[in-house]
Amino acid sequence: MEKSLGKVLVVEDESKLARFIELELRHEGYDVVLAEDGRVGIEKFYEEEPDIILLDLMLPELNGIEVCRRLRKESDVPIIMLTAKGETMDKIAGLDSGADDYITKPFAIEELFARMRVALRRSANSNDNNGNVLTLHDLKIDISRRMVYYKDNEVELTKREFELLTYLVKNKNIVISREQILNQVWGYDYIGETNVVDVYVRYLRTKIDDKFGVKLIHTIRGVGYFVKDDE
Ligand code: CA
Repeated sequence: MEKSLGKVLVVEDESKLARFIELELRHEGYDVVLAEDGRVGIEKFYEEEPDIILLDLMLPELNGIEVCRRLRKESDVPIIMLTAKGETMDKIAGLDSGADDYITKPFAIEELFARMRVALRRSANSNDNNGNVLTLHDLKIDISRRMVYYKDNEVELTKREFELLTYLVKNKNIVISREQILNQVWGYDYIGETNVVDVYVRYLRTKIDDKFGVKLIHTIRGVGYFVKDDE
């Protein structure tokens, strides 16, 4: 028997689409579990312990953003949101709720597979990190435990905010362009609004700079962002 590429939980209420995705995934070599609404999706997550979740945004019972938010409190499982055309603001909200990525329907199945491989690889890499702590002034990032502290105050970040902050701190004193950030933090040739980076920098500033009265993330207009380790 061939080895499974992993178990995928597909939370999608359009049964035709769900069935199509299921068949394609099985053909590719994944195990598949289906859930037809948000509540069942959360139940199946606990029962089945999938390696990755494909999560429709518009769902009966609990919508995708709410499902994502709840799962993120418990787990770092990779989540890819399935969104319909024109749901741009919802996409941003989806990423803020902790999704790793999103893909717009209708999509090419090969593109979905590519996104899944990236998300699964990133998740495997982050599980390999252990005992890694980064510091910058009074900021401390515990990479293995995914915790951030400022002067011993815990800073609660979403998964993507955490990854953005970690990337900036790892590259301290270097100005990093939005495109580099997109490639490294979002992890693929991102097609869409590069202002998603600005949105996330703003989230981080609200949670760290504004809250603790510091200037951590600097903007170089028209170029990008950086953090520096001398005041
Ligand atoms: Ca739907």
